[in-house]
Amino acid sequence: MAETFDLIVIGSGPGGYVCAIRAAQLGMKVACVEKRATLGGTCLNIGCIPSKALLQSSEVFHQTAHGLKDHGIAVGEVNFDLARMQARKGEVVSANTKGIEFLFKKNKITWIKGAARFIGPNAIEVGGSAYSAKSIVIATGSESVPLKGVEVDEKRIVTSTGALELDKVPGRLVVIGGGVIGLELGSVWARLGAKVTVVEFLERITPFLDGEICKAFQQSLTKQGFTFKLGHKVTGATTGKDGVTLTIEPAKGGAAETLEADIVLLAIGRRAYTEGLNLAAAGVATDARGLVLTDAHYATNVPGIYAIGDVIAGPMLAHKAEEEGVALAELLAGQAGHVNYDAIPGVVYTWPEVASVGRTEEELKAAGVAYKVGKFPFMANGRARAMGEMEGFAKVLSDKTTDRLLGAHIIGPDAGTLIAELVTAIEFGASAEDVARVCHAHPTLSEVVKEAALAADGRALHI
Ligand SMILES: Cc1cc2nc3c(=O)[nH]c(=O)nc-3n(C[C@H](O)[C@H](O)[C@H](O)COP(=O)(O)OP(=O)(O)OC[C@H]3O[C@@H](n4cnc5c(N)ncnc54)[C@H](O)[C@@H]3O)c2cc1C
Repeated sequence: MAETFDLIVIGSGPGGYVCAIRAAQLGMKVACVEKRATLGGTCLNIGCIPSKALLQSSEVFHQTAHGLKDHGIAVGEVNFDLARMQARKGEVVSANTKGIEFLFKKNKITWIKGAARFIGPNAIEVGGSAYSAKSIVIATGSESVPLKGVEVDEKRIVTSTGALELDKVPGRLVVIGGGVIGLELGSVWARLGAKVTVVEFLERITPFLDGEICKAFQQSLTKQGFTFKLGHKVTGATTGKDGVTLTIEPAKGGAAETLEADIVLLAIGRRAYTEGLNLAAAGVATDARGLVLTDAHYATNVPGIYAIGDVIAGPMLAHKAEEEGVALAELLAGQAGHVNYDAIPGVVYTWPEVASVGRTEEELKAAGVAYKVGKFPFMANGRARAMGEMEGFAKVLSDKTTDRLLGAHIIGPDAGTLIAELVTAIEFGASAEDVARVCHAHPTLSEVVKEAALAADGRALHI
């Protein structure tokens, strides 16, 4: 007899584990299947958390080596121990994954260890045992997109997973793809001494960012030593004893050239991961790109089977997956779970950080929406000056007639934290004036947000 549950979640990433916890809080008998040896999915094991651990360590090193003189602090020769940095990253990951294990125990969630495959619409098999549930959630996440002619070996040609594990700083790192993951990991290795070249098919990096922010971002990375080969595609890679030779061509056609690299990071995007799930046994429909198709309530075409997170449409972000996990658990409990996709922030954890929410200027123009722009630079902010972090600006976009906030974009120190205020404002349907009239502590970086909101009405005070 198959063991039965109210809910089985397949995958323990931020979508799956959060869905499991919320469902257990709401009184359901819950199991979560995970085939990795530790809980937490891509995010905790090979994504958000280890990348932020290395970004933090490399930033501390870089700041110590190059940023202290202005503060009147003298240090001797500054070195780093990469093995220790990597060990620290491992400790950070382990503390986080064990934290999820603790939360599972606390909420009486059964962790079924192994890979799940469907054996029917409401039943799965894991390691030879069958399990059934009233509801099954697919939260199996995503994997790195491969590129024809560029064979990943996770040693010389790596995905983000290999790039997080390097035991030596590459002299020359070529990143294929100018998206968030490539630029963050490029930053880690650039700060530690790698010469980083980014090859990007499009004529710009981070195409989802507001154009003006994107331009400032590329300028900043260029100042930090990045080289960009925009409008180029990689057509082949040959791995030799000492490195990799890449062949690249202009995307629009033209003469091929070669690029030499010690390490190549393939980061051209991620795609839904459903390998081995045997979706066909349950009859679950996917689209041409392999994304599991759902309705607005995360229901697939098969009654009782749902999907959330990277495996369905929408931005591949941990917090988006988490919100979907909570919403779905609440819907299954008969509540009104809901995710506002207009208020999902995106952050690039480089330095300066880049953060955004809502619409870009380009999107508003394309949609024919009349809008106002308010901008304010960190250069004119007292706290940013005291910190010696004056690069960047905040930009708010509001409806020309109603002043309702439509989008907000920040490049600058701690942009990822600063954006939260504007996410809240958009969630509450606030106007730029609402933000402008809120009292912000002085001196803080958050005054840049207030001043940008004031600027939308042409009345910034400190510029
Ligand atoms: C390098 C990197 C950095 C990132 N940084 C950020 C960031 O800073 N912020 C952010 O928001 N997002 C970031 N992301 C994206 C984020 O990791 C994902 O959006 C998020 O993990 C998606 O969560 P999920 O629950 O949908 O799936 P995942 O986290 O991918 O988890 C899916 C889990 O399902 C398991 N699984 C798959 N198939 C089966 C099966 N058949 N049986 C059992 N288990 C199975 C997998 O082992 C995996 O553990 C980053 C990603 C990468 C790669």
